[in-house]
Amino acid sequence: MNWKRKWIAALATLSQPCAPAIAARYAIRDVTLIDGTGRPAVRHRTVLIDNERIVALGGVRLPIGKARVIDGRGKYLIPGMIDTHIHLRDTGPDGKKRSMDIAAAQATLAGFLALGFTTVADLGNLPGTVQVMRGADPRISARLLIAGRVFTSPGGRNEDIGIALTSADPAVLARHREDEHPDLIKMVEDKGGFGGQSAATALSPELMRAIVEESHRHGLRVVVHIAREADARAAIAAGADGLAHPVWAEAESEDLVQLMARRRIPFATTLAIADQYGRLMRHPDYLDRPDYSLVLSEAERNRMRTEQRAQFLLQPVAAWREQTLSTEMRNVVRIVRAGGIAALGTDLVSGASSHREMQLLRQAGLSPLEVIRIATLNAAVFLGRDRDLGSIAPGKIADLVLLNRDPTADIDATEDIAMVMHDGLVVDLGRLPVAGTKELLRREVGASQAVNP
Ligand SMILES: [Zn+2]
Repeated sequence: MNWKRKWIAALATLSQPCAPAIAARYAIRDVTLIDGTGRPAVRHRTVLIDNERIVALGGVRLPIGKARVIDGRGKYLIPGMIDTHIHLRDTGPDGKKRSMDIAAAQATLAGFLALGFTTVADLGNLPGTVQVMRGADPRISARLLIAGRVFTSPGGRNEDIGIALTSADPAVLARHREDEHPDLIKMVEDKGGFGGQSAATALSPELMRAIVEESHRHGLRVVVHIAREADARAAIAAGADGLAHPVWAEAESEDLVQLMARRRIPFATTLAIADQYGRLMRHPDYLDRPDYSLVLSEAERNRMRTEQRAQFLLQPVAAWREQTLSTEMRNVVRIVRAGGIAALGTDLVSGASSHREMQLLRQAGLSPLEVIRIATLNAAVFLGRDRDLGSIAPGKIADLVLLNRDPTADIDATEDIAMVMHDGLVVDLGRLPVAGTKELLRREVGASQAVNP
């Protein structure tokens, strides 16, 4: 090395400590990091955030410049959690499904944020509220992705919140994109009917394929509601990017398990909804218990009251729905064990229900690290947003949750939240417009467990 090079090298070393490589707004320092990829926790990490992005990750000696320090000692950092399958809707006085009003939707999305769910996806709704809430302030609202109205067949399931198609008319699909601004497309494929009671019509294989191809041409992923193995196979054959449920109405074949794993088709787990129906049947006063008032949002309770009247007081259906929970749990675990991609989704509409989903995944036999990955990176993969969301790495959006306890020891620690950062902004948890404080939400989640035998 000549003297000039030596001199330059010496200058570079000298200037390092006082000139951080990257300007940063926040430094979460000396924290135990659980990055969402399923890798084990790493202690003594520092995460730098600038504007809405994570810009650097390192040890406790990482230069942080003028960044504001958030003390991570004794705490655990996970990515913001994601529920891939909710519906911001309730039931009107006429018994029909309707969009939640804006105020209820605001409180619901604030509630998700309070409980560490920084992104949720509405997989099917009438136009109105979801388009408004899509651009909500990240300091008071979970990020909302939407499917808008679903595509179904005339007389098929979800026609009341859908567009019934007989052909993949590009003009109809274009109008849906232009009017409803979907982030992804949802189709409904369910020939069995609910409880096997009313066989529904379904989209033809050609029609599903045409919808998938047209949506892909416009950069939109397509996820599909399914109930049975035949529905799942039809969706995969049509080129679907994800399934909005596991096979839940029957046990799946080993062949399907291997297909889902090999093709890396993500699916939303949706165990919590069967669990709720089961508990509803065992505890007829379930919906009106005060300790459920926040585990179930008002919208969920309204929906279930209506559905309860409609069909769930028929005991054979209830018994069947209870059985489907254990079937569904086994189906989920088998695909995870085969290397497939389970993504957290509830088909419900409160952050507390989303935490219930995590408990059920744990009960099904998955490890806390697996459950965290399902609730973070895998969910981002399901939504096609894993370049930006779902794990803690430089370049990703700073959606982060700081926990007081170790979630790899006890998954319920994901409710014991010290701080939520959304889009690089620290959420003022005490000022969120939720119906009740964070502490109340947490306590009532706890109460729900006591009732579950
Ligand atoms: Zn749904």
